[in-house]
Amino acid sequence: MNYKTDVCVVGAGPGGALLAYLLAKQNVSVILLERHQKIAKAFRGEHLNEEGEAILKKHGLFSHVEKLGVLAMESLEYWENGNLIKSIYPEPEVGHLGIHVPQAHLLKVLIEEAEKFPNFTLMTNTRVVDLLINDDARIYGVKALHEGREIRIESQLTVGADGRYSTVRKKAGIEVTNKKHGYDLLWARIPAPDNWAPSIKMALIDGFQLSLFTQAKGFIQIGWNIEEGSFPELRKQSFTTFLDKLIKAFPVLEDTVKENIKSWNDFVLLDVHSNFSENWGKNGVAFLGDAVHTMTPTGAFGLNSAMKDADCLAQIITPERINQLDLMQCESERKKEIVKLQAIQIEKEKNFATQFIIYS
Ligand SMILES: Cc1cc2nc3c(=O)[nH]c(=O)nc-3n(C[C@H](O)[C@H](O)[C@H](O)COP(=O)(O)OP(=O)(O)OC[C@H]3O[C@@H](n4cnc5c(N)ncnc54)[C@H](O)[C@@H]3O)c2cc1C
Repeated sequence: MNYKTDVCVVGAGPGGALLAYLLAKQNVSVILLERHQKIAKAFRGEHLNEEGEAILKKHGLFSHVEKLGVLAMESLEYWENGNLIKSIYPEPEVGHLGIHVPQAHLLKVLIEEAEKFPNFTLMTNTRVVDLLINDDARIYGVKALHEGREIRIESQLTVGADGRYSTVRKKAGIEVTNKKHGYDLLWARIPAPDNWAPSIKMALIDGFQLSLFTQAKGFIQIGWNIEEGSFPELRKQSFTTFLDKLIKAFPVLEDTVKENIKSWNDFVLLDVHSNFSENWGKNGVAFLGDAVHTMTPTGAFGLNSAMKDADCLAQIITPERINQLDLMQCESERKKEIVKLQAIQIEKEKNFATQFIIYS
């Protein structure tokens, strides 16, 4: 089966879904492809910073997301063996230290709003496997497996919004520089005890960072930094010894941790790395988000950066103007910021332990 559209966006993560919505609203025909049957995924970037919030507000989307349930963080706390040693509070003009937005809510709003436009099509269970490239080396669409059948989608512009392991980027022959950060991350989610204030709590355990993020609807997401590549070895040990350290850091969590984390299977491993590409577009293809600048979870920049890329791209794409030269302008503006943010992530990771030093 063959399809035709102005823009084919590959990947319905926050970046791809926002771009597809904005283009549909601007009267550009757009097909959004997602390899999963369901668009909502667990354990993804879910903390909006003020910039992500501003983008959603600018496009009238924040109130829709808010109705489904969000939670503003009221403090950032540093804990040592069950004792609070330092708290940081929001700037009054911002009013929060990040807003938890379940990714399922964000994506639901973006897709539902996009579906109000007849020129928008979402195809789930559709995995891009290759690019359509003509004799002049111009990319004019993608080949995908839709419910197991091969389809072709021809487009004036293809956008690779397909995340950290981007197929579109690899098939377009675009290189990235990968960087390891010396740690991996284990995630787990537990119900919050009663009266748990909306907060981000940090602890330092055996030299590694442990973070607790309060979530909307009464949950806590635990992010546990472990030595890079150490999980296979760690898994051979009892997970209760591992949990004991978490309970020592936050004794109030003992009951909920013991009730809800029963084995290593209750953890999700994130292989932490970042990458950066010097090239965010060529001959019929453009990229955004993790596909060209994978962020580590530090500082919660990734989701917000992907949405900023989408906002930037949407400003230069109109039904009359879907061409490469304009895309380059957007690329240079966004690259400068990403280089800065990735440097901040490294700095924060290096200096995490110093946050626990209290100067008198
Ligand atoms: C565990 C974890 C926690 C994080 N926490 C935060 C946080 O709190 N705040 C924050 O700002 N950032 C956070 N990040 C980073 C953030 O999740 C990413 O930077 C952000 O999701 C990038 O958005 P994206 O739209 O570029 O890509 P993604 O969200 O990765 O979306 C890419 C989409 O493309 C689809 N796809 C992939 N390949 C194909 C294919 N071949 N065909 C079709 N579809 C395809 C995928 O299924 C996916 O839906 C976190 C990341 C992880 C992994």
